[in-house]
Amino acid sequence: MTLDQNQFRLLPSVDELLHTPQGEAMTLTFSHALTVSALRLSVSQARDAIRAGGTCPSLESLLAAAELSLKQQFHPQLRPVINATGVIINTNLGRAPLSQAALLAVQQVSSGYSNLEYDVELGTRGSRHVHVGALLRELTGAEAALVTNNNAAAVLLGLSALALGREVVISRGQLVEIGGGFRVPDVMRQSGCQLVEVGTTNRTRIADYVSAITERTAVLLAVHPSNFLITGFTESTSIAALAEVAQERGLLVMDDLGSGCLLECEKYGLAHEPTPQESLAAGADLVCFSGDKLLGGPQAGILLGKAEVIARLAKHPLMRAVRIDKMTLAALETTLRHYQRGEAETQIPVWRMIAARPEKIARRAADWAHQLTALGLAVHTQPGQSTIGGGSLPGETLPTTLLALDATSLSLSLETISQRLRSHSTPIITRISRDTLYLDPRTVLEEQDTEIIAALLVILAA
Ligand SMILES: *Cc1c(COP(=O)(O)O)cnc(C)c1O
Repeated sequence: MTLDQNQFRLLPSVDELLHTPQGEAMTLTFSHALTVSALRLSVSQARDAIRAGGTCPSLESLLAAAELSLKQQFHPQLRPVINATGVIINTNLGRAPLSQAALLAVQQVSSGYSNLEYDVELGTRGSRHVHVGALLRELTGAEAALVTNNNAAAVLLGLSALALGREVVISRGQLVEIGGGFRVPDVMRQSGCQLVEVGTTNRTRIADYVSAITERTAVLLAVHPSNFLITGFTESTSIAALAEVAQERGLLVMDDLGSGCLLECEKYGLAHEPTPQESLAAGADLVCFSGDKLLGGPQAGILLGKAEVIARLAKHPLMRAVRIDKMTLAALETTLRHYQRGEAETQIPVWRMIAARPEKIARRAADWAHQLTALGLAVHTQPGQSTIGGGSLPGETLPTTLLALDATSLSLSLETISQRLRSHSTPIITRISRDTLYLDPRTVLEEQDTEIIAALLVILAA
């Protein structure tokens, strides 16, 4: 092999590259040390290319290669994606998106100092729990409220504080696994209480609970089966019936609602989802739920209940381990304020998606299809179903209009298209079913429409 020694001689030194205007700009953005090592890599790759018979790249392309590798190093690992799956509370995609106002509150509270645990009026130490306590009481009718970093922590805290070393009675139909390793029997064991299961998978009556009560019983626990349905010959016991028995026997009723829906789901054509207000009114002593499911706020656990019960939880040593942080608290307060002002449906993304009018979704899907077919791409729209997801309202769907890409009319496989959409600068997550790739406008934020179209044009026209 004859090497062109001239090509090697044309190769600039790292120092030369470093002292170009672009090189100097890179040191300001990425630091001197990282820029030097990126430039070294760029030059050494060029040397390898010349050794393989290539020619010396231009100064610009050597600098560009170094800049690209630096940018890739600084690309955040956790980053936004576009959810075109039609699953509104998508657990893998971060559950509930936050409202603009909640984001602003997070920024304002955490870019400087805050009154997180300071009473500004008295000039003394305060409690982080006061910031949402009154709001939660007002919205749900609870006597008292407490928040934790998620609902799993809320359940653990509740059981640990109320039933350590005692028995907790629960229906066999409610010994559920929520996903991600959260199984009710395991959490009960972890909190140091003894599980007493009653009834059968499909039917549990109040008499089953009554006959299981001993002098060691502390709590009657209800868990909302958030992610599955038992239909047919079924019977479960109401919170009111449990509360009546508990009151007679000096026991407590704890209700893990899972989703924490404050609005009436029926209004949106969905099945009824039990609300914390109802559970408290029916006599539950402690109710808990997530902040980032149907509530539509940040990841958090919300505990509501009788004042003396909440006071026991607040004093428990676990409280410190599971406490909420200031960013979450800021987002949660703002989310709750949307309910207080009666604007949840227009301001909270999860509820805006649930409440989206079918004609409006159809218009967006038609608009996407129009832009793509105008450029000769084979796509069409078709009626479909969006789902709530996130362990809320299992089996319930909302009518939608989907953009459909049919496998038979495309030169690329659907897996390839789906993979390329995921490799887009903002990854686009879609769904494939029966030889068709679907995009549901319902879960795509409106400001992302142009990005979806641009990505599809690049990928499909290739
Ligand atoms: C989702 C869920 C949990 C766990 O809540 P996280 O906020 O994810 O920790 C616990 N119980 C029920 C019934 C749930 O649906």
